[in-house]
Amino acid sequence: MEERGSPDGDPARSLEQGPEGPETPIQVVLRVRPMSAAERRRGEQSVLYCSGTRTLQVNPPGGGPEVAFRFGAVLDGARTQEDVFRASGVRRLGELALRGFSCTVFTFGQTGSGKTYTLTGPPPQGEGVPVPPSLAGIMQRTFAWLLDRVQHLGVPVTLRASYLEIYNEQVRDLLSLGSPRPLPVRWNKTRGFYVEQLRVVEFGSLDTLMELLQMGLSRRRSSAHTLNQASSRSHALLTLYIGCQTAQQMPPVGPGEPPVGGKLCFVDLAGSEKVAATGSRGELMLEANSINRSLLALGHCISLLLDPQRKQSHIPFRDSKLTKLLADSLGGRGVTLMVACVSPSAQCLPETLSTLRYASRAQRVTTRPQAPKSPVAKQSQRLETDMLQLQEENRRLQLQLDQMEQKASGLSGTQMAWAQRNLYGMLQEFMLENERLRKEKSQLRSSRDLARNEQHVLAQQVHELERHLSACYRRQPGPGPAPPCPCLMVPAPSCHALPPLCSCPWRHLCPLCQAPLAHWACPWRVRHLQQVLGHEAPGGRPLSARPPPWAPPCSPGSAKCPRERSHSDWTQTQVLAEMLTEEEVVPSAPPLPKGPPNTSPVLRGGAGVQNLAQRLEALRDQIGSSLRRGRRQPPNSDGAQSPGQVLPPR
Ligand code: ADP
Ligand code: MG
Repeated sequence: MEERGSPDGDPARSLEQGPEGPETPIQVVLRVRPMSAAERRRGEQSVLYCSGTRTLQVNPPGGGPEVAFRFGAVLDGARTQEDVFRASGVRRLGELALRGFSCTVFTFGQTGSGKTYTLTGPPPQGEGVPVPPSLAGIMQRTFAWLLDRVQHLGVPVTLRASYLEIYNEQVRDLLSLGSPRPLPVRWNKTRGFYVEQLRVVEFGSLDTLMELLQMGLSRRRSSAHTLNQASSRSHALLTLYIGCQTAQQMPPVGPGEPPVGGKLCFVDLAGSEKVAATGSRGELMLEANSINRSLLALGHCISLLLDPQRKQSHIPFRDSKLTKLLADSLGGRGVTLMVACVSPSAQCLPETLSTLRYASRAQRVTTRPQAPKSPVAKQSQRLETDMLQLQEENRRLQLQLDQMEQKASGLSGTQMAWAQRNLYGMLQEFMLENERLRKEKSQLRSSRDLARNEQHVLAQQVHELERHLSACYRRQPGPGPAPPCPCLMVPAPSCHALPPLCSCPWRHLCPLCQAPLAHWACPWRVRHLQQVLGHEAPGGRPLSARPPPWAPPCSPGSAKCPRERSHSDWTQTQVLAEMLTEEEVVPSAPPLPKGPPNTSPVLRGGAGVQNLAQRLEALRDQIGSSLRRGRRQPPNSDGAQSPGQVLPPR
């Protein structure tokens, strides 16, 4: 025996597992209505047998092959309306709607198979004759259950309802205040497909809801034909909107915004029919064609949704108003329950088999249920996502920190100790170097102070000797009238202490203070030098025309530069200046004498002291020789010198 259908089609079990899984199949329940009185009268045979609670067996007349179909639940003709309500799992859908899910219950099957009966019970038998409660359909039972459930929730719940029909591909509002008029079906990203200007009525009691239901049922198009005396000629959709937030918490619903909360939609499809079998003519035939066309579009969408590869591609929900409004239930984020209805009669077997195959395929269609998110819920979810990301980042950083600490602890034995030692060694070296430099600096300072003291003492000795020499000259007879003093040509005070003193026997004294004149101012020395060097100096210029040694150095390349100064010139000038100021003279110091390579430059202070010592020695010799010559030799009479002659030093 061939068996079709999904073994996982148990709606209760699947919904207990939760609809928020990756994908949830459409739940399908099969209801076989009892043989009608007309069918029994015609002697038609039943070809459907329920074997167990989930399997339907089809025994074709004439000994054809038996076929079995497996659904979430199979309910034979003996089952009551209450049995169907309990077995179908509608209450579970109601719970999900209260949690914010979009849920749909729709009946499907041949015309006259009991779809409307299953959803809303039998039509009233007459004006003012109420339908017995035991015959109330799934919708009334769900309404009663929902209102009772809401009362016991303990939180404010907003309930609203809309009711529409699709008749000849036109949407009509069954709850409109005036006569029903066609309404457009729109689409936007947040709501998907929706009916514009559809009246949504808020209700707070079961009675009000029942009145709305009766109002819609009474306005719904139905006609009589061969197979059904009260055949629905339209698809009817009653939707309950369930909002579980208080008015303060409820965000305002702007134009085009969906109401926040769950939805529970009941869809009573018009039955497919063979026009030949129903005998529809005229308007009935047009209605039948329209119904069949929309059901065909629905079947096509279901077929495409079954193909896992094509499911990702385009599904032609726009082919009909019915598929547009069922798009979310079939392929979207909703939870869907299909109640397939069939007749047991052998006369209806082709249509029954078609319905069974249709339903069997439908229960393999999957959806991804997802509760609609309010802005508050979205923000909460975003915060939750941010928190998870931060936690992940924190964990990652903690991991990195641990790894770094592990590396650091691994280094402590070898590299860390080496690094520390190296650093400590460098620090020690720097400290030692610093100490050495400090000592050197201190030694240099003390050496400088020593040299200065020595210099001072020597200068005093020189001064004493000069005074002594001057006194000696004054006591000796002079060579006649003294030549004019060259210090008249220069500032007088600066010429007084310009050693070396003249070494000629005829010392010349400054007429202002009687201090001995410098040797280059001595006319005798000029004559003596002219005799030694000839009339002109090697530079081609008279010696008298040359600048004094204390003149500032000429600029390089200057035509007026008489000669290059020697190092000894500068040394003498510096020593004289230092003697006068008793301080070290640095700015006017000459370049240090260049020694051979790899020799250290001469220390300035040391050279000065040495020079002074030599000068002192020379002075002593000078004094001695002067005294000796003074005693032996008479003075030369032609030693006159023109004023302004200034000779360079030795
Ligand atoms: P459909 O809506 O599928 O066209 P209906 O619900 O109108 O069919 O049912 C057709 C007829 O069958 C109605 O007279 C209805 O009372 C009757 N009927 C359907 N199902 C049952 C059932 N389970 N028990 C008793 N009568 C039923
Ligand atoms: Mg019907």
